[in-house]
Amino acid sequence: MRTLAILGATGSIGRQALDIVRSAPDKFKVTVLTARSSADALFDLVREFRPQIAALAEEPAGLPQDVRACEWFFGEDAVTRAVRAARADDVLSAVVGIAGLPAALEALDVSGRLLLANKESLVTGGQLVMGRAAALHKPVLPVDSEHSAIFQCLQARQGNPMSRLILTASGGPFRSWKKADIDGATAAQALGHPTWRMGPKITVDCATMMNKGLEVIEAHHLFGMPVDKIDVIVHPQSVIHSMVEFEDGAVLAQLGVPDMRVPIGYAMGYPERVPFGGERLDFVKLGQLTFEAPDPERFPCLRIAVGAQRAGGILPVALNGANEAAVAAFLREEIPFGGIARTVEEVLSRTENRNITCVEDVYEADREARERAGAILRSLAL
Ligand code: NAD
Ligand code: MG
Repeated sequence: MRTLAILGATGSIGRQALDIVRSAPDKFKVTVLTARSSADALFDLVREFRPQIAALAEEPAGLPQDVRACEWFFGEDAVTRAVRAARADDVLSAVVGIAGLPAALEALDVSGRLLLANKESLVTGGQLVMGRAAALHKPVLPVDSEHSAIFQCLQARQGNPMSRLILTASGGPFRSWKKADIDGATAAQALGHPTWRMGPKITVDCATMMNKGLEVIEAHHLFGMPVDKIDVIVHPQSVIHSMVEFEDGAVLAQLGVPDMRVPIGYAMGYPERVPFGGERLDFVKLGQLTFEAPDPERFPCLRIAVGAQRAGGILPVALNGANEAAVAAFLREEIPFGGIARTVEEVLSRTENRNITCVEDVYEADREARERAGAILRSLAL
């Protein structure tokens, strides 16, 4: 039985992780549950899973009597304090954005393994997170489906070098739309993802294809691969979750129905697989798998993200901060969809690059990027 802390328990990943716990209650004991502001949803989960510790980044009006058996933490740093206090075997980080970076670093210090869904912590603090993991000999197990697929393929590597990583992308809801229509898309249209049901921020990132850019950076840090050896291919069925090419040209792929419980459960149980009763692939029903090149004209965010990582320094942090600010503004219906890419590109062009030496450098670069984005977002306001 492993103890498990779930950060972002009320979200899409968090809830699916709890589904796995329900189907294998003998394997996992949930000791920490956290959320930002969804107090009532978290109270329900506390009633069901009885963790030792719970945390809310925004303090609720009051605590119902029947959830007071566990220890509570509130406030901006509540999630990090909960991780420190619990020292769980495994910490699943499923919060959104750079807000997950301090908890990821804390988890490496005090826990056994970091199960990472929160890709923004690697985009912004990848060197720091992977550096700390290596120094402390703690594994970072990918939860993102593409990275889990690569990690699964690498189990068959036997010491051989990889020559290329191939990340698959669904193409999102605007895959076959014209550029002018994409630029004017509404939040409701952007939130209609064809194959995955996810939280609002990542769903918008999929529509701009910024998500795939963030994932190229995530793969670079997780697998130590230069971004120029990481390809992206659009695969609308989302059945091949990603691939690894080896030096002899052999390509290994991981396939399955698009169900996040597979990669979540793989990280939770690693190296054991955890059956949870999910649907199976039916190849005959599927008929065919198709592939297309991503279109840099209609989806500039992918190119912008890879360019930021190539430049290095604080630019990936600026990219992420500008994107987080722009996506939030888009979801509040303050800017048009096309304004997201414009804001990110403009913030990057106004950022003078410098190196990152410590985590404070990351937070400073993030603050600056959000400030710059704020001014641009006001100029784009609908
Ligand atoms: P979500 O919006 O559904 O849930 C986010 C969770 O984190 C909620 O519990 C929320 O209360 C909490 N949270 C948000 N901001 C916080 C903050 N500042 N402090 C503390 N807690 C906070 O998001 P999601 O779709 O589950 O995604 C979570 C992470 O996993 C993201 O980084 C996303 O990119 C990544 N991811 C998600 C999916 C997916 O299928 N949903 C797939 C791959 C990767
Ligand atoms: Mg993914």
